[in-house]
Amino acid sequence: MGDLSNPMVMRTYYSRLLPWKAMFLWLNQSHAPTRQFTHREFAFTLQNEAYLRYQSFATADDLKREVLRLNPSRFEIGPMYSGRPKDRKALMKSAFRPLTRELVFDIDMTDYDSIRTCCKDKKMCKRCWRFITVAVKVLDEILRTDFGFVHILWVYSGRRGIHAWISDSAALNLTDEQRSAIVRYIDIVKGYTAMDKRLTTIKPMHPSIKRAYDNSLKSAFSSVVLGDQDVFRTDPQQWENVLSMLPDKENAASLLKQFSTGSDSSSIERWKDVVKIPASAPSANALTKSRIKDKHQEAITDLIIQYTYPRIDTEVSRKLNHLLKAPFCIHPGTGKVCVPLLASQIDAFDPDTVPTVGKLLLELEQLSRRGDLQADWGKTSLKPYVELFERHAEGVARERAREVKAEKAQSMEF
Ligand SMILES: [Zn+2]
Repeated sequence: MGDLSNPMVMRTYYSRLLPWKAMFLWLNQSHAPTRQFTHREFAFTLQNEAYLRYQSFATADDLKREVLRLNPSRFEIGPMYSGRPKDRKALMKSAFRPLTRELVFDIDMTDYDSIRTCCKDKKMCKRCWRFITVAVKVLDEILRTDFGFVHILWVYSGRRGIHAWISDSAALNLTDEQRSAIVRYIDIVKGYTAMDKRLTTIKPMHPSIKRAYDNSLKSAFSSVVLGDQDVFRTDPQQWENVLSMLPDKENAASLLKQFSTGSDSSSIERWKDVVKIPASAPSANALTKSRIKDKHQEAITDLIIQYTYPRIDTEVSRKLNHLLKAPFCIHPGTGKVCVPLLASQIDAFDPDTVPTVGKLLLELEQLSRRGDLQADWGKTSLKPYVELFERHAEGVARERAREVKAEKAQSMEF
């Protein structure tokens, strides 16, 4: 059960478990089909890895029928175009361009490889997932507080990453330039390996970074980086990088010597030495002393941000026409469902408990043995995820209906 190379496994999943109606409502933002759905690009990766782009469908049933016929291993969602993607060859080039799409973000464990100690490569566990948990909380808060977005859905990628889909009208209508500007605002940490030693924070600290630092980063650094991951215990490269960021070179050199020759020390112990204000020369006046203290504390703050601030895959968010795997697809490597969740649930979310297609098919089989041959997702462990998705899609559609009504009322006034 659940062997993904068996075509019946995916076909049964698509036929009985994937929530097509909710998917339609979420993308279309209305119960009757609009261009938001009919002009939307879908792309299929077939079982033989062939890739079909520019597919489009009139209704949710059409989409489901084609998915059952092609039986892809997964499929992606693109923008709404000015024409139907399947008709694009018959259209003038200028008449076929992307118009709207959800603003999306991708956070992947790859970008945390240099600072996690528990797993490597494609492996992921509950412990390193905590880096993603911190990133989700911080990014969700930025999107809500700084940009005013409301309809944000997080979707587990099925292995070691997570996507955000923002369905607010203001997000849908962003141009490529505006998406890039948002990415520049958010992407302040370039990943530790590519770190160019410059301080990431311009003084005074941006209020958005200050808020993230106070609400999440500071505590995440001490519990995840120092405590759980114990990043500075064994790998000299880790503390060499930290010490190279300290402004007082003499102090850094003496700590380097201490860390390299000293006995096995925990990250918590080593960090205590790092944060200590370096001693100034006996002749130094009060002003010099306070400058040394300020510079040192700024470097410490920067380090904490470098290690904990969200690391996003910027290419995914910049362009309207970027394709992103649909929620509820099956990850071909793990068999896990790409389930949706809200940022408020991220602390309780455990990637290990996400249902796999194998588990779900087993549940269907058990139901059919008891005589229930028609059971859908509602009787399986997929239920809470689909219900969350439905509530989210309904919320998006309600908001859209309000906007359409307001637009109509306004046009009547003129
Ligand atoms: Zn791990």
